[in-house]
Order: sequence, then structure tokens, then C-alpha cells
Amino acid sequence: MEHAPLYERRPLFIYNSLTRTRERFAAINPPHLGMYVCGPTVYSDPHLGHARTAIAFDIVFRYLRFLGYRVRYVRNITDVGHLEDERADAGEDKIAKRARLEQVEPMEVVQRYTLSYHDGVRRCGCLPPSIEPRATGHIIEQIQVVEKILEAGLAYEEDGSIYFDLERYVQSEGTGDSPYGKLSGRVFEDLIANTRDTAGSEEKRNPLDFALWKRAEPGHLMHWSSPWGEGFPGWHLECTTMSTRYLGETFDIHGGGLDLQFPHHEAEIAQNHAAFGSDPARYWMHSNMLTVDGQKMAKSLGNFITLEEMFTGRHERLERAFDPMVLRFFTLQSHYRSTIDFSNDALEAAEKGYERLMAGLSRAEELLAMTGITGEGAVSTEPVTPLEESSLATLSDIEREAEEQVAATWEAMSDDFHTPRAIAALFELGRITAREEWRTVSDRSRVRAAQCYRDFAREVLGLAPTERDTDGSGGATGAAAELTEGLVSTLLTLRAEARAAKDFARADAIRDRLTELGIQIEDSRDGTSSWSVSR
Ligand code: ZN
Repeated sequence: MEHAPLYERRPLFIYNSLTRTRERFAAINPPHLGMYVCGPTVYSDPHLGHARTAIAFDIVFRYLRFLGYRVRYVRNITDVGHLEDERADAGEDKIAKRARLEQVEPMEVVQRYTLSYHDGVRRCGCLPPSIEPRATGHIIEQIQVVEKILEAGLAYEEDGSIYFDLERYVQSEGTGDSPYGKLSGRVFEDLIANTRDTAGSEEKRNPLDFALWKRAEPGHLMHWSSPWGEGFPGWHLECTTMSTRYLGETFDIHGGGLDLQFPHHEAEIAQNHAAFGSDPARYWMHSNMLTVDGQKMAKSLGNFITLEEMFTGRHERLERAFDPMVLRFFTLQSHYRSTIDFSNDALEAAEKGYERLMAGLSRAEELLAMTGITGEGAVSTEPVTPLEESSLATLSDIEREAEEQVAATWEAMSDDFHTPRAIAALFELGRITAREEWRTVSDRSRVRAAQCYRDFAREVLGLAPTERDTDGSGGATGAAAELTEGLVSTLLTLRAEARAAKDFARADAIRDRLTELGIQIEDSRDGTSSWSVSR
């Protein structure tokens, strides 16, 4: 009956940081959609802040896909050029500093923390992006963008470094549509007034100017040849280069943490205008910050918590470990534009909520797995959408109550990805379908409710049961699990033979070795042994 794609039938509203209004979203070239999100600088273990940003944009990615868009989600890895003093373009490169302290290659630092970031956000239920470009892999393209900005007369060279000429950019734009500061709501003249006395590098004509390319001083670890000598790219430049490289000069959505709005995103807009004459993105989205026990998270305050510490409970502020999915659920209980405060009590409450939602999910999946529901009540291949007014009239009271929650879930997600309201609607739907009276409703209503619950909990919110070792394979699946099963059985047979031959030393050695590997052996009275993996 309805053939139009879901995104045409279900209007989506996004709060656009650029206009400071909630706008009805329209893609530039549907069904294609381009989204760029600023990723991590990989010089230390991922922490709660990384998880929050990754989860916020994972929800955006998932819901846009759910609506039928073909999303190209680009999230970069910053592996060069992010200096300790971002504002002054001074200090050591964060990655090079770590490499120096650990006495390893910078690329070893990059590899190690890229992997730990991937692992941390994957465990939090985040899907990988479509493309994950690295700054060091795009040096040539970055040099080309610098050349474009130089050609436009909006940058200058100073002793092998290239700086963006903000004063000139502001003048050239005049009263145009891209004043510097339009995203963060800052006024250039005020910014100038505030920085005059705290002058940065003497090379800069204006302290607000930012580096596009920096000369590498002797001993600088990461550097490349350029038309201006040996150097390395500025931090803001990589995002302009890689977003336009993969998504075009203007794309749909640009996201990142609120801390990047100024100056990083403001610099990206200026660079894009200078190089390509256009705004980079139609919609800008910013996820808010977090606090721990009411304070900003900072190493100096002792409340800086990495994901590993959260998942193992090894942090003095944590009373115990919390599962990555509990962390995800906790994060989604707040809207992405609100701040969230981490505390043991709040996480414990979130754990109960998460378990309740998972109990509902397992009931819904059981129902959907049942065979024999065909015709009107068959499981639909596309998402369940709210019913028309005319169809609602034919339903019983309890069916209508359930349909109200189906509609509320959609409305919540389409209202700027309002996950707390979507979770509340799913809980309500779970309560309604657990009532005695629900047994009397039609197959169609039962399946619709279960499918809505499953699709939103699992696909859109990305909340799934915790990874558990239920098959004794330590989480391995398929061929790996079969191999493990075969190897452990072989060892258990050898152990049984050793015992039968009264070679107890050998039998115990086999058991001890398996225990070291995390494999527990249970001997039964009839002489057989079973095993399980404990971690
Ligand atoms: Zn960026």
C-alpha cells in the first residue's frame, strides 16, 4: 500500500546548532546521506567522554538507517597535528609526546589506542563508521587544501608555517552568510578584544589565526615534505580535508562533542569557505558534556574514568564494575544535548532499568520467533509504523493503549533523537503487553507491539543482551567454538586416561594448565568431566 520510503513518511526534526533551531531534516541527495563526526586523538585510553560522543552519533546513524537512508558515516582518527596547546598552536604533538615517554614509534601509540578505542566503543554497542580516515593517510590532500586557501589569499606563510588569515577572511566575507563565529555564537571583534593581551605566537599576524601547516622543528618526530619545507598539518585542517574528500564540499550532517564547537568547528567552516566557497554541512549537531559526581571530569580531580576502569570497576570512585550495555543505557536515559552526571547510584538504577528492558526484549523476541502467525498477524519485513486514525477506531481499549506507545516511540526518536522518551514509551508498551487482558488481543496487535519493541530496543537504541559465555566457548562462535570444544575434549580424554593409569601428577598438570587458561573442570561421580569458561 505504502511504497514511499520511511524517511518521507516519518518527518525527522533535528536541532541544528548552526541556526539554533529545531528544523525539519531534508537530505541533500536522498536516499544518500553524508555524516561526518570528529573522532578521537588516539594518544590515551578511551574514557567516558569518548563513549558519550560515540553513542550519541551511533544513535543518529542507526535511526537514519532505520528510516531508510543510505548513510555514509565518516569518523576520523586524529593521529598527527593535535598539539598540547590547541589555541596557541604550540607545545608538543600529543601523540609524539606519548611516543617519547613510552619510547616507541608514534605509529605504535596510534595503533594501540586506535584499537582500544575501537574495542571500547564496540562493547558499548556502537556500529563502526562507514569510513574511518586517518590524518596521516591524507597528507597530500591536506597540502592541496592549504594551496587552495593560499590561492584565495586567505592564508599567509611565515618561515615555513602557513596560517589562516582570519582578519582578511572576516573582511572578505563582509556581511555574507558565513561570519566567523556564527556556529558558536561568538563575535569576531569581541574575540579579538579578548585575545589582544594574551598574544600567542609572534609569527601570527593575529593571535586568533590558526595553523594550517606547521614547520617541523629539528627533532620533531612526525613530518612530511611540502612546498613550504618539512612540516605537519594543523589539527583543524584534517577534518575539512577528509570530510570533503569523502562526502563532498557540502554534506548533510556534521557532528562532534560540544567542546569542539569553538574553535575547531568554527575553523572548519572558515577553511571550507576559503577553499571551496561553501559551508561544509547543512546541519551541525553537538553532544553535550558529562560530569562525575557533579564535577567536570579531569585527571587532576581524580574522577577521570576510562572505559576499561568502568567495565572492571578498578577505579576508586566506582563501587563495582558496570557492564558496557549499562553504560549505554545510562547514557541514553538523557537526551544527547543535556549534560549527564555519573555516579554509582545512577549507574545502579540504570542497571535495573536495562535489565527490565532486556526482559521485555526477550519476551518480544520469543513471540516473534513463534511460527504459525500468518496473514494479518505475520511479522512484517519493514518497521511497524503508527496506525492511521481509521484503523485505531476498530481496536479494543488495550490495543489502542499499546498503539499510542508505538506512536510515542516514533515521535520521540523523530524529535531530535529523544532517546529518554523513546525508552519511557517502550517501558510503557512492556507494561501494557504484560497485562492479563493482553492475552485476548489479535495476533496482529501482539506482533505489532513485539516488533516495535524489538526494532527500537535492538536496532535503533542498539541495546542488546550482554555478551555472555553461554556456550562454553569463551564467547567464540562457529568454527572457533567447535575447535575449542574439540581441543578441550581431547585434553579431558588424555586426563581421564592418565587417571585410569594412576598417573595423578600428569592428570593434575593438565587440569592446572586448563585452569590457567580460564577453563574450569567439573568432575562428576560417574567419572565424566564437563567444563566451562570463567573470566
Ligand atoms: Zn574535527
